[in-house]
Amino acid sequence: MIVCRSNSEIERIREAGRIVAQALLLAGKVIEPGISTLEIDAYVEARIKKQKGRPAFKGYRGFPAATCISIDEVVVHGIPGTRRLRAGQIVGVDIGVELNGYFADAAATFAVAEVAGDVKKLMETGQAALAAGINMAVGGNHLYDISAEVQRVAEGAGYSVVRDFVGHGIGRDLHEEPQIPNYAQTGRGPKLNPGMVLALEPMVNMGGYEVEVMKDQWTVVTLDRRESVHYEHTIVITEGEPEILTVL
Ligand code: MG
Repeated sequence: MIVCRSNSEIERIREAGRIVAQALLLAGKVIEPGISTLEIDAYVEARIKKQKGRPAFKGYRGFPAATCISIDEVVVHGIPGTRRLRAGQIVGVDIGVELNGYFADAAATFAVAEVAGDVKKLMETGQAALAAGINMAVGGNHLYDISAEVQRVAEGAGYSVVRDFVGHGIGRDLHEEPQIPNYAQTGRGPKLNPGMVLALEPMVNMGGYEVEVMKDQWTVVTLDRRESVHYEHTIVITEGEPEILTVL
């Protein structure tokens, strides 16, 4: 069952979403050659706590940090560590916040200084795929209309979408029903109704869509070790245009 949230609940998710957006903005600002992913994580965690939020990933199934930080061929769930960033890399930062019992979740991939032209195009496509998916998230459409549109944009540009990880409902928990694949499904999926809160999160790969999980049981990498980008927003279905909740 997909829960439809009341206006007061949506306002609480919006407040959590604002903290996520601020933290993500901060992460983008501090990313530069030489900084370690652990340092980025520390900045983000401090910002979230200053806003009275709780970093929702920390301790989630034993995850050790406030953020997932995923470099180059790492798709998602990278664990912050002492590794230092170098110019030309791309860094996905994924942040979840709980505030007063409500959750919001967003991610973005940042360039470290200048990146190669093909990597820049991959980043632009990832953003375009998310935007296109959000545009389909309107009342009366079906869930898999979002999935199919994300895939159409990503594959149309010559890339692939990850199959093994999906977007999700969100609200009172970090991950709620439904699962939201980023590729077309058979059938149309459940009908979208106002009040449904969804975290849409396409993961777009430069090469093939296959991924594997590393020995640490968290880090997900592309099987061909080519780059991957990840963009995510928490949105709410409304009577009109979808509203993005993870914005300032
Ligand atoms: Mg998510």
